Amino acid sequence: MGTQRKKAVVLLSGGMDSCVCAALAARDYDAAAVHISYGQRTEERERESFLAVCQRLNIHDRLLVRNEALRAIGGSALTDAGIAVPESQLAGQGIPVTYVPFRNAHFIAVAVSWAEVLGAEKVYIGAVEPDSSGYPDCRPAYYKAFNEVVRLGTKEGRIKVVTPLIAMRKAEIVRLGLELNAPFDLTWSCYSCEDYACGVCDSCRLRLRAFAAAGVKDPIPYAEAAVRS
Ligand SMILES: [Zn+2]
Repeated sequence: MGTQRKKAVVLLSGGMDSCVCAALAARDYDAAAVHISYGQRTEERERESFLAVCQRLNIHDRLLVRNEALRAIGGSALTDAGIAVPESQLAGQGIPVTYVPFRNAHFIAVAVSWAEVLGAEKVYIGAVEPDSSGYPDCRPAYYKAFNEVVRLGTKEGRIKVVTPLIAMRKAEIVRLGLELNAPFDLTWSCYSCEDYACGVCDSCRLRLRAFAAAGVKDPIPYAEAAVRS
């Protein structure tokens, strides 16, 4: 018997950051990937991306779950049809309406529960603080505090939530992804559309800007009106 690789769980939405995060987890661990649908506008497209990215990264241990609470609660442009996804105002202040109230806590809780059952020692999440929309659940202090909750709330208290991308600029994440052969072509980041990325929501703008800054073309399809040189 060869040496058994240690296990890690990675939260994989299907977006560019979580894809790079999954590539890192798969490089260093026997990775298991979890995807959570929560009634977001692009959930079908994201699920498709999740499965395709897992396949490309040879992640066979997969968990697809549904969180009904976030949609029922609403209060976000991503989960409430009555709140439009705004065109990006990257210079804007405050927390945008695309923030899903306390969403990452739900996600991390699922991943930690699964990690405990699998005997995994790490939970990877692709949270990013710079070049982000300013969501409070992407701050390093939040993860530090959450790890204390995990330590006190699990049987052995040894699972760590790790955020390898948290301090990186988006362009650096693109470069790291290219180094790792992360399958950007299979990812989806748009908040509002499932066939062509809109190119104008916060998520599309941040993504396009990151690829432009890294000097490479984003391989996913964008709505024609959104294509800029
Ligand atoms: Zn978009």
